[in-house]
Amino acid sequence: MVRLESLSFAYADQIPIFQDFTWEVQRGDTWAILGPSGCGKSTLLYLLAGLRFPQAGQVLIDEQAITRPRPHTGLIIQEYGLLPWATVRENARLGFRIRGFYGPDGTHAPTDDLPSGDVDQWLNRLRLLPHADKYPGQLSGGQRQRTAIARTLALKPDLLLMDEPFSSLDAPTREGLQILTLELQAEEHLTLVIVTHTIEEAAILGKKILLLGEPPNTTPRVIDNPKAGISDYRNSAEYTAMCRDLRDSMDLPTRNPVPSPEGRA
Ligand code: ADP
Ligand code: MG
Repeated sequence: MVRLESLSFAYADQIPIFQDFTWEVQRGDTWAILGPSGCGKSTLLYLLAGLRFPQAGQVLIDEQAITRPRPHTGLIIQEYGLLPWATVRENARLGFRIRGFYGPDGTHAPTDDLPSGDVDQWLNRLRLLPHADKYPGQLSGGQRQRTAIARTLALKPDLLLMDEPFSSLDAPTREGLQILTLELQAEEHLTLVIVTHTIEEAAILGKKILLLGEPPNTTPRVIDNPKAGISDYRNSAEYTAMCRDLRDSMDLPTRNPVPSPEGRA
């Protein structure tokens, strides 16, 4: 579904972050992108989202070269991007309003507005209906993140990009949202790409894990993790072994006896 073809990208006057980088995502896959701070994870998401453009090579989605943001790609940025002066319901409707402005094809003004009932259905699925009239400042971190997810999923994306979505949440909330995200991925047949700097989170979420390192990234390093998403994987010996392998691949010291859920990249 997504193909990066011989892609090279550098910010002005810096060494390239990607150089002749080729990588492919199949429809319905769940990928975690793992790497230390500054290795280019967010940059990769912005390239996929059509918010940054390579100097060489291209990003193809469904064989179309990406030249601007694509309406069916959902992007959830770090810190959620909610409007502080709008309620949960208004925030969740924001995507519709923006699409209303640009039109369903991303270029033309549309003719019809979408009913708010669709938004309430998403608020209900994300257990936000009781909070629909609150403002982001009145919500917990988990509720804010669920609002950002509702806003994005209401637009029926087929590709969902998430940038460190759970990094500022406490451990039980994070675990709950990881499970919810995998449920929604299956329900909505999403192709999911989640950026994380946490080994344990990559191992929980990514059926495939792309390891990025010190720029320039040239050849993708991919680790298969087919049991991700299976219930109770978190408590299995295979999961612990996967975390150890990832830590070794990232050249980090192994900690004993069990990796903490707060592992750092
Ligand atoms: P990550 O998300 O993995 O932490 P980023 O993709 O945000 O990394 O950044 C990769 C590198 O590019 C970092 O060294 C960062 O400082 C640099 N960088 C990010 N955004 C910009 C920008 N707008 N202009 C110049 N350099 C940038
Ligand atoms: Mg980042």
